[in-house]
Amino acid sequence: MSLIQLLPDHIANQIAAGEVIQRPASVVKELMENAIDAGATKVDVNIKESGKSLIQVVDNGSGMSADDALLCFERHATSKVRKADDLFSLVTKGFRGEALASIAAIAHVEMRTKLADDATGTQINIEGSKVVNNTETVCPNGTSFEIKNLFYNVPARRNFLKSNKVEFRHIQDEFERVALAHSSIHFTLTHNDSEIYNLMLGVLRKRVVDVLGKKTNDRLVPIEESTDIVELNGFVLKPEYARKTRGEQFLFVNDRFFKSTYFNHAINKAFEGLLKERTYASYFLYLNVDPQKIDVNVHPTKTEIKFEEEKFIYSILLSSIRQALGKYNIAPTLDFERETSFDLPMDMKSKPVSEPVIKVNPDYNPFHSTSNRNTTSFSGGSSGKKSENFSQAITKHGFGTKETSSADWENFYTIDEAPEEEEPAPLIEDETSPGISQFLIKGNYIFTPTKSGLMVIHARRAYEQILYTDLISSFITSPLQSQALLFPIEKELSKNELVAWESNAMMLKQLGFVGEVKEGELHLSAVPSVLQDETIQKALDRIVETIAHRDIEKGEIAHELVHSISKSASMKKMNLNSKEAVNDIIERLFQCENHAFTPGNKKIIDTLSLEGIDEKFR
Ligand code: ADP
Ligand code: MG
Repeated sequence: MSLIQLLPDHIANQIAAGEVIQRPASVVKELMENAIDAGATKVDVNIKESGKSLIQVVDNGSGMSADDALLCFERHATSKVRKADDLFSLVTKGFRGEALASIAAIAHVEMRTKLADDATGTQINIEGSKVVNNTETVCPNGTSFEIKNLFYNVPARRNFLKSNKVEFRHIQDEFERVALAHSSIHFTLTHNDSEIYNLMLGVLRKRVVDVLGKKTNDRLVPIEESTDIVELNGFVLKPEYARKTRGEQFLFVNDRFFKSTYFNHAINKAFEGLLKERTYASYFLYLNVDPQKIDVNVHPTKTEIKFEEEKFIYSILLSSIRQALGKYNIAPTLDFERETSFDLPMDMKSKPVSEPVIKVNPDYNPFHSTSNRNTTSFSGGSSGKKSENFSQAITKHGFGTKETSSADWENFYTIDEAPEEEEPAPLIEDETSPGISQFLIKGNYIFTPTKSGLMVIHARRAYEQILYTDLISSFITSPLQSQALLFPIEKELSKNELVAWESNAMMLKQLGFVGEVKEGELHLSAVPSVLQDETIQKALDRIVETIAHRDIEKGEIAHELVHSISKSASMKKMNLNSKEAVNDIIERLFQCENHAFTPGNKKIIDTLSLEGIDEKFR
């Protein structure tokens, strides 16, 4: 008789489980990933006692047939890899077919699953790899798992679990990693019946802000780079908000969280010289690479990944983050303390709302009024805080130094009339050479020479950002200025839109819209003063769209509406015919905390480096 025997399945599974399932958080991760692989658009995670008594994951994904429902608990049962080659082109999270077999080996599992086309579903109960119940059942489309008594038959594991607090922290970490990688999926997390997260779907920025808190929004510096080998996008946090711990460092490749000391090094290098001692940069960076060029199979829980083009990606990370931080640093923010709180507009619900001030002012032109603005004044520098004007900022950061004279201005006003160089390159070689800071405008762009090249500003976007920043800060303290319409607007809206208008009436009033719903129509008698004739309709359409048709969290609505107003208002023809007007827009842009991007995350400023320009003439 042979001494060697094959281990019975349930023991083999139990041993394998040790590798895949280390703690409750591992179960949460595996089940969430399966839900995503099954195409779910909503995933609910419900935890009791840090997963020690219950882990429940419910999805609205594909579901399984009665046959698959049984098969999925078999070891190496997977629908995701059919042949060895598939391993090199994985787009799913799972592929080993180990997770469910492992979980079933060491816990009590109840699964209910149903295909959308079937009338009924299947319920399976399995305990220590033994199927104890397999019945037809009535249940919603998709799949739900309930895991109880985790590690009931592996006392060593159970005893090694940490306190509830620590174990829940692990669960939350896994949840955040998955949620941050999939902003187009609605996730909820509940612990002991209290809701920890309810993450509505939205753009990546929204997801990051929803996970990290509203304050984060103003602190994000967008990163975007696209090359043949890797597409990079995401955010880093401005260096002054660096953390004392490494908590907020997230790297994803093809929507999968991973860790990499090598890439982390590249990112830290990009921050060199910008961080306070013993603080760590925060980042949320998403790489997209050809799945053939990575190997996710190196680590059982798959947080380490091998990259074929590691060195190239390193340099892309380094250069694009440096560049983004550089851009954001063109003129350091002048007024950090005055952070516009994102929560305030919501709080107004509990405060009595004062009547909007209605003034008819047909000549209102936000462009021409810098003197009576109550934002931090550049020239005044009244508070103790440092305040600098654009030319100071420019000097400091290596841009031209001299005030523009009208003559210079005239010369540079259009590209065609730009003067020929009389002497070779005095503009660049001699830092103190006169006449450097002229602007020239062509189409939508303002060009201004800098010591290190040429800065280009998208004028309309700059204006949008200025309006947005102004409106948001005044909106927080008082209603926006409103102007009465000579001819009230009557707008036909759908029932649903009218309801949305009425339920947001208070906030809309605060924004300067005065109107009422009459016989199924909206009658508007006043609108925010920033809006001009031609932009009112556009703004109205955007606002109706926002309140009635977009899935926006309550706390975000005010911002979205102010965004709509500033965007519409910025669409009017701009009058940039004078040096003063251009100067004004630039100065005001640099007063905005975020002067590099619009609220919709569109680029406002770009710089062409001298090297880049040289390159073009080679
Ligand atoms: P893997 O994810 O590596 O394939 P698992 O053990 O996690 O292995 O899952 C086994 C199989 O069960 C999957 O390949 C999939 O076909 C099926 N499955 C698991 N979870 C779900 C789910 N939530 N919805 C639909 N099918 C699922
Ligand atoms: Mg899986």
